[in-house]
Amino acid sequence: MAKIILTGDRPTGRLHVGHYVGSLKRRVELQNSGEFDKIYIMIADAQALTDNADNPDKVRENIIEVALDYLACGLDPSKSTIFIQSMIPELTELTFYYMNLVTVSRLQRNPTVKNEIKMRNFEASIPVGFFNYPISQAADITAFKATVVPVGEDQMPMIEQTKEIVHKFNSVYGEALVDPQILLPDNEACLRLPGIDGKAKMSKSLGNCIYLAEEPEEIKKKVMSMYTDPDHIKITDPGKLEGNTVFTYLDAFSKPEHFERYLPEYANLDELKAHYTKGGLGDVKVKKFLNNVIQEELEPIRNRRKEYQKDIAYVYDVLKKGSEEAEKVAAQTLSDVKAAMRINYFDDEELIARHIEKYKEQ
Ligand code: ATP
Ligand code: MG
Repeated sequence: MAKIILTGDRPTGRLHVGHYVGSLKRRVELQNSGEFDKIYIMIADAQALTDNADNPDKVRENIIEVALDYLACGLDPSKSTIFIQSMIPELTELTFYYMNLVTVSRLQRNPTVKNEIKMRNFEASIPVGFFNYPISQAADITAFKATVVPVGEDQMPMIEQTKEIVHKFNSVYGEALVDPQILLPDNEACLRLPGIDGKAKMSKSLGNCIYLAEEPEEIKKKVMSMYTDPDHIKITDPGKLEGNTVFTYLDAFSKPEHFERYLPEYANLDELKAHYTKGGLGDVKVKKFLNNVIQEELEPIRNRRKEYQKDIAYVYDVLKKGSEEAEKVAAQTLSDVKAAMRINYFDDEELIARHIEKYKEQ
């Protein structure tokens, strides 16, 4: 079976380092591994509209931002198909049929949706489209017959929902859909990178992000203001690692060679952690080190982004060509789905012949 990747992001803002460690970096590695037959990267504008219906401009303006971030990180249009969700109407049609295979109570139990409803204060007024987005996500994944979906941990319930739809569809109508596997980051800190406030996952909606395209000064300011251990007041105080955002970020970003370059008194992160928990190591020193590490990672991304910014017409062309290619694939799947459901009336010679037969005598 072909190895196919589908993943994507909502164009609700620029991409941040949570996206990077949770999914984007992995995608680029998978793309360059040459192990996959096809890679589809979707800018999920239709999904973004489910909770931004009154603000289509926000979505419209951010498609280019996400595309620039993709190219800056190393997604390569000659290896990956980058496309815009709403350009593929087949996805909406698939969603419509899958909706019949899912109960309202099943959607209500989805922990990510529950949490997002709370975050958006939607309790009494959930848009039907938003409530339905796990089903539309199943359409996105299955339309491309994706076998692997590299995403952050918050997407686990979505992949579960997709798998249920696939199993249900295949058992009711016959094997037409491919069962996808989730691919989570293997580094635990990257599963759900917290925001700089340490409160929850870094998320555009919460405004607690370090953006990939951010300028060095801004990054530094954010790193220096990051949440640490509130009880670690004096340098001599022993510090706590649990819930300490700075150390979570170091878990996500730092490599032994960073120590050689920026903090040679420590051989590795374990030594730094040991000193911090024992006492005698100040937050400022750790933050300065983290700043160096993040700056090193983001600098080439920012520079590449600036190059692509000079040729926006090219970026739109990439999206247009990608969308055209993606639509062909989704159209084939929709045709398979309709054939499996036997709602492909005009192609169904047996149906037409039988009906001719039925009324022949009259
Ligand atoms: P929004 O607030 O609009 O939902 P978001 O910041 O949650 O935006 P999405 O576009 O919903 O971003 O997520 C895109 C991808 O990035 C998903 O695969 C998601 O799992 C991953 N991701 C987002 N935030 C993080 C994070 N903080 N840590 C790890 N992965 C993340
Ligand atoms: Mg999200």
